[in-house]
Amino acid sequence: MITGWTVQRVRGERVVFGKATVRRERAVSAKATVPRARHITSAAALACLTLLAACGGGITPLAPSTAPVPESRTAPVSNVPAGRPAVSGDLSPGVTDADLDALWARQLMVPVEGAEPSSLRNDYDAKRSGGRTHRAIDVMSPKGTPVLAADDGRIGRIGTTPIGGNIIYATDPDERFVYYYAHLDRHARGLQTGQRVQKGDVIGYVGTTGNAPANVPHLHFQVMLRGAGRAWWDGPAINPWLFFVYSGSANQ
Ligand SMILES: [Zn+2]
Repeated sequence: MITGWTVQRVRGERVVFGKATVRRERAVSAKATVPRARHITSAAALACLTLLAACGGGITPLAPSTAPVPESRTAPVSNVPAGRPAVSGDLSPGVTDADLDALWARQLMVPVEGAEPSSLRNDYDAKRSGGRTHRAIDVMSPKGTPVLAADDGRIGRIGTTPIGGNIIYATDPDERFVYYYAHLDRHARGLQTGQRVQKGDVIGYVGTTGNAPANVPHLHFQVMLRGAGRAWWDGPAINPWLFFVYSGSANQ
C-alpha cells in the first residue's frame, strides 16, 4: 500500500504549493472543457494507467471532528423514479435493494462543472497499488474546475489527509449516504463543517492533492452508506457510475 505512494504524495504537494500551480490555476477559464471518456486520447489512457498506482481504496481519513447525527436508515424509499439502473459488479456487503432505490431517488449530479454522466468511465472496480480496489469514480477535469455538491445535504467533514489530499465528506438530507470528494486543489472559500449545501453548490476545485498523480487532475468521488456501528464516514461503498442523472452545472 505504501509502495509508490510517498513519491506521488511528494509530487502532489510540490504541485499544490508551487508557484507554477498558481499561474496554471489562473489560466483555467470558466469555459474549460471536460474531456469525455468516449474521446479518450493516448495521453488520457496513459493518465489512467498512472492512476493505477494511486487514488485507491484503503482510505484512512482522520477521525471526524463533527459527525452527522446517527439515525436508523433501513426504511424503504417511496417515490423512487422509474428506471433505476442495475449496479455494475458486486454489491458491497450490507448494501440492499432499498439502498439502491434510495440512491436512485437522490438523482445525483456529476460533481464536476461541465462533466456529463455519459462521459464517466467506470473505474470503480479498478485495481490500485497494494491490492486495493478503487471503489470510487474518477472524474477527469482540468485543475481548478469547480467541484459541485452531487446532492443536497450537509457537509460532514472538511480536511486534508495524506492519500485524499484536500477532502470533503458530505451527506444526503437523510444522512443515509456519505459522499467523499478527494484530491481537491482547495476547498471553496468559507465552506464549513455542518453547512447545508444544495445539489450544484461549489464546494471545491479539482486538483492533484494527496496521492493523485501531479499530471492527472481529477476528482475522486465515492458514495458510501453511512457507517453503522462504526465511523459514519467509513460505510460500505456503492458504485455510483450509472446513478448520475444531471451533468455538472454550478448553482449561480
Ligand atoms: Zn480515484
